[in-house]
Amino acid sequence: MSRSAHPAGPRHADVLPEGHYTAPADDLNALDPKVWARTVGRDADGVVTVGGIPVTQLAEEYGTPAYLLDEADFRERARAWRTAFGDDADVFYAGKAFLSRAVVRWLDEEGLNLDVCSGGELATALSAGMPAERIAFHGNNKSPEEIERAVRAGVGRIVLDSFQEIVRVAHIAQSLGKRQRVQIRITVGVEAHTHEFIATAHEDQKFGIPLAGGQAAEAVRRALKLDGLEVIGIHSHIGSQIFDMSGFEVAAHRVVGLLKDIRDEHGVELPEIDLGGGLGIAYTSDDDPREPHEIAKALTEIVTRECEAARLATPRISVEPGRAIVGPTAFTLYEVGTVKPLEGLRTYVSVDGGMSDNIRTALYDAEYSVALASRTSDAEPMLVRVVGKHCESGDIVVKDAFLPEDLAPGDLIAVPATGAYCRSMASNYNHALRPPVVAVRDGAARVVVRRETEEDLLRLDVG
Ligand SMILES: *Cc1c(COP(=O)(O)O)cnc(C)c1O
Repeated sequence: MSRSAHPAGPRHADVLPEGHYTAPADDLNALDPKVWARTVGRDADGVVTVGGIPVTQLAEEYGTPAYLLDEADFRERARAWRTAFGDDADVFYAGKAFLSRAVVRWLDEEGLNLDVCSGGELATALSAGMPAERIAFHGNNKSPEEIERAVRAGVGRIVLDSFQEIVRVAHIAQSLGKRQRVQIRITVGVEAHTHEFIATAHEDQKFGIPLAGGQAAEAVRRALKLDGLEVIGIHSHIGSQIFDMSGFEVAAHRVVGLLKDIRDEHGVELPEIDLGGGLGIAYTSDDDPREPHEIAKALTEIVTRECEAARLATPRISVEPGRAIVGPTAFTLYEVGTVKPLEGLRTYVSVDGGMSDNIRTALYDAEYSVALASRTSDAEPMLVRVVGKHCESGDIVVKDAFLPEDLAPGDLIAVPATGAYCRSMASNYNHALRPPVVAVRDGAARVVVRRETEEDLLRLDVG
């Protein structure tokens, strides 16, 4: 399926982008609850509101572009994951999706654990008071300094990613007089993305130790011998934006196969298995993600069944959703600067941000939707491409969508489902100032990450 070739369509679009939006929605003013944060709606004047506050007011107060984060929704989704998996499993929020101290506190209060994968993420988590034993440290090339900080802090687990790291972490832990709890990340030869997964013998990518060729078994063999390590389990993460559970099924089958081999060879039953994250969310109305309780049920059943077949006690399961918790809880608010109809093609709508605040469209060919937020309109739909203000034609925020034909400079538009991998991957391209994250809840808004200033930029440039 080619997602990069889109035949251009006329404004009323009888030639429509392949694999997406077969037609404009019946009502362009409607806000599909699948893609919008839970407290989002429109007020009596037709203005989009979040947490009870109109976006026009938020724009005035905090400027645009801005990421508006629905705190109640974030907490509800975090809690839903926690409740779905219950006390016999652990939910680690993947901090790389979006991390700030406010978010760390919410996670702590809602009983979730936290994945970090750099010294910076670890520092953020610790400074917000997340108990170290509830932090997992990830990454394929943790520096010795990062490892030492993590071990000293007492993180609950370090996920080992290579043979060299097994020795490195063992050595550092031992030199600090500690025994570090670790999981070993393996690659099971399954790669899942959206509705498809591919099972191959070898996985040509940088993460983990391949199950193939007995390498993962050898890694466990070596780790079990090292005094500085307490091997608590096996870790597998198979992809991102996944809707189809069959990839997890194959992964769990292979991980449990390894646990069985470990039991047979060493007489040790490792007590934990981590199935990673990657659960999909709705970016457009075409996506149909599963609820946490369905995912929990499916994963628990798969692991239980595989363990029964292998005559193993069912290990404690952990999962690591990032996108599925934070993704749907935020949207980006932009102001329209120019509206440029290209006759016979489409209309380009330029906003005051772009690839610096959302790189996913350029990087992954991601799909997004968009709505007019500062008012409603009964005008006819026009096919648009929402683009940013950067010096690059690939600076696209929303590839194909419909907005009302009377869209004009000064209108506010909102792109939903930008909570994950937007602020966390934001850049200063063209010396853009990265937008703030404003958390809104019960009629009150507060900045949790402030907007960058030109002083911030100049402070780094020492001249
Ligand atoms: C990125 C990542 C996750 C989270 O992925 P999402 O798609 O945000 O759920 C979880 N675990 C690991 C190891 C990751 O690298």
